Amino acid sequence: TDSLASTDPDIWAVVQDEAQRQEAHIELIASENYTSPAVLQALGSQLTNKYAEGYPGRRYYGGCEVVDRAETLAIQRACELFGAEAANVQPHSGSQANQAVFFALLQPGDRILGMDLNQGGHLTHGMPLNISGKWFQVSSYGLNAQCEIDYDAMERLAHQVRPRLIIAGASAYSLRIDFERFARVARAVGAYLMVDMAHYAGLVAAEQYPSPIPHADVVTTTTHKGLRGPRGGLILMKRSFARAIDAAIFPGLQGGPLMNVIAAKAVALREAATPAFVQHQRQVLRNAQVMAETLQARGLSIVSGRTESHLMLVDLRDSRLTGLDAQQLLEGLGLTCNKNAVPGDPRKAALTSGIRLGSPAMTTRGFGEDEARQVAVWVADALQAPEDEALLAQIRHQVRALCARFPVYR
Ligand code: PLP
Repeated sequence: TDSLASTDPDIWAVVQDEAQRQEAHIELIASENYTSPAVLQALGSQLTNKYAEGYPGRRYYGGCEVVDRAETLAIQRACELFGAEAANVQPHSGSQANQAVFFALLQPGDRILGMDLNQGGHLTHGMPLNISGKWFQVSSYGLNAQCEIDYDAMERLAHQVRPRLIIAGASAYSLRIDFERFARVARAVGAYLMVDMAHYAGLVAAEQYPSPIPHADVVTTTTHKGLRGPRGGLILMKRSFARAIDAAIFPGLQGGPLMNVIAAKAVALREAATPAFVQHQRQVLRNAQVMAETLQARGLSIVSGRTESHLMLVDLRDSRLTGLDAQQLLEGLGLTCNKNAVPGDPRKAALTSGIRLGSPAMTTRGFGEDEARQVAVWVADALQAPEDEALLAQIRHQVRALCARFPVYR
């Protein structure tokens, strides 16, 4: 046969092993999720064979009439789900979606204002080694003493530097973001407002987190986090920006769009418009809350003191364990998470003093509050007794049993 197993046993083994790893670990990485079988099916379809440079109805290749339907549906569903005037579904990733906005709205050397990576921002928001940091003059805002976004300082900074673009959005911030406030500041200083809602898009789709759509000129997101779609990017915008943004994606930054991925985005957007998805996102919030409360009850510190989203940062500055130690310790138990700098982190970026925990993936596999609480207890047990081999062995065993009770793909 010409199946993957017989054509390429090496890669077949990788696929099998990764599927097994995903079943047998509890996924706590806040930016990860499990797509539906329908999304996987669209991704693995013949649509991957098609070149379709351009946009529906205006392509540079023949034979695009079928894939045009997929892209048109994806655009319509994205606009409907989020209440946006226009959408571009072609970005290959969240980073490329952000680059397209910069390419459309800015010139090299322009001033931008974004959230500091070390305080929860994303590297595409002006980190020095990223193209956003190399090509633009970056000013950064961060958190106040309570570890909430310091809106007053952000506003003062905006008036001081008068950026051409303000970026709101974060990768490691557990609270609601006041997008309206950002919009007021942007208007006052004559800046564009871009919101990167990658981490919150699933919650926003289900109206469980404030929507940036009414406030921002352009909203970017990934489609593979809370939205539970394929890896990729998406841009939502006011109609007046569509021409410039579309041109920035193609021919500005990308060539042929990935039509199988776009079809899979359409599938995920349809799934996200269902009542079941709203229930799921409510559970994502409840599970995150239970985890944060349980960790705090055990004496662990959560950055910002609480979560209003799917994620939390555990502050390990007082612990002997670095973030890296904690990540490795938990990994050994079947609990996958990532080390993450906390605000004012005294340790190096390679070590950090925190871990980031998220509830989306565990919720997708069916965990409710009981299971979320149990996971938090295991995390606390391990972090507080990292050398208790008997305890660790017991947790490892229990994690495996819980995973077996909640298969990801049946
Ligand atoms: N924006 C934010 C806020 C993110 O958290 C991420 C991913 O971690 C991205 C953009 C980048 O997305 P991608 O990894 O698809 O380039």
